[in-house]
Amino acid sequence: MALLSRPLLMLSRSERVKQLVSSMPVSAGIVRSYVPGETTESVVDATAVLAENGVRSSLDFLGEDTLDTEQADATVMAYLDVLQQLSARGLTRMTEVSVKLSAIGQALPDSVAGGGHKIALENARTICRAARNAGTTVTLDMEDHTTTDSTLAILRDLRKDFPETGAVLQAYLHRTESDCRALAYEGSRVRLCKGAYDEPEEVAFQTDLDVDRSYVRCLKVLLAGQGYPMIATHDPRLVEIALSLASRYVREQGSYEFQMLYGIRPDEQRRLVKAGERVRVYIPYGQEWYGYLMRRLAERPQNLSFFLRSLISKS
Ligand SMILES: Cc1cc2nc3c(=O)[nH]c(=O)nc-3n(C[C@H](O)[C@H](O)[C@H](O)COP(=O)(O)OP(=O)(O)OC[C@H]3O[C@@H](n4cnc5c(N)ncnc54)[C@H](O)[C@@H]3O)c2cc1C
Repeated sequence: MALLSRPLLMLSRSERVKQLVSSMPVSAGIVRSYVPGETTESVVDATAVLAENGVRSSLDFLGEDTLDTEQADATVMAYLDVLQQLSARGLTRMTEVSVKLSAIGQALPDSVAGGGHKIALENARTICRAARNAGTTVTLDMEDHTTTDSTLAILRDLRKDFPETGAVLQAYLHRTESDCRALAYEGSRVRLCKGAYDEPEEVAFQTDLDVDRSYVRCLKVLLAGQGYPMIATHDPRLVEIALSLASRYVREQGSYEFQMLYGIRPDEQRRLVKAGERVRVYIPYGQEWYGYLMRRLAERPQNLSFFLRSLISKS
């Protein structure tokens, strides 16, 4: 993790910092470069523009760590709404949704209606059913390591009825190479990313080099396997390695895909599409953009200094 990342992620948990950043219109410039808008319409419009250029999308209604069943229900409704609007505009062939289980109840205590695990499973089932009816799929985002077992258990349950449901594995976790082996079976859609949370050394690699090496080992397992790898990285070296491994394992274009975040390396996204690769952009939207923005800034100190300069100059 970069020198500035850990303090920034800690600072981002302060309620005062959150209020300051969230209420400042100045943040709009940098927010807009990562989040196309707060409404369903704004994200469907962004999806349509990408689709015209041959780029697929996965939409994420922002919000996580819900400790309130009403909010979890509201998140489910937001997904049903966006799926309906995508379907009405003929965009579901190019667009799926990404869901954080903590936003739909996973973090709720056991005292509430059977507990968070069960609530999240039922809510995820509702979204998967709506996605299937709309002609598209769901991918379950992966959050911090304390949720990995619960998330993979929910994935296994969902796949009994909705085998098209996508998983996410994080290369920074020691366990992930073995999880990749378990999930590299036919029809299994697996997004491989480096991982975005601040994890302890007991469970996660701590240096960039070790994370990158793990990413390559996991890529080999997924590309050599029978599943559908979704290679989520902006790292130019890893993209090149993925392309050469795809050719080594005789993978046809379209039997795997590249994924990047909205607003990051758009030229590279277009270059890959032009080269015939399948590319999907992850688009977050909604009012709860704060935590997402902080994780992106933590990954990129250049953006952080730009952000702080604009805060200071406008305050
Ligand atoms: C589609 C998608 C889905 C994801 N889903 C999850 C998930 O479910 N769970 C999870 O923990 N993480 C998720 N992530 C985040 C991921 O784990 C990483 O934190 C993030 O992608 C940065 O890692 P990287 O592979 O791009 O490499 P990095 O080493 O961070 O970056 C490599 C290069 O990419 C460019 N770059 C990276 N970040 C930025 C930026 N913010 N602004 C501008 N340029 C940048 C720079 O050129 C940089 O040198 C997802 C990422 C993607 C792309």
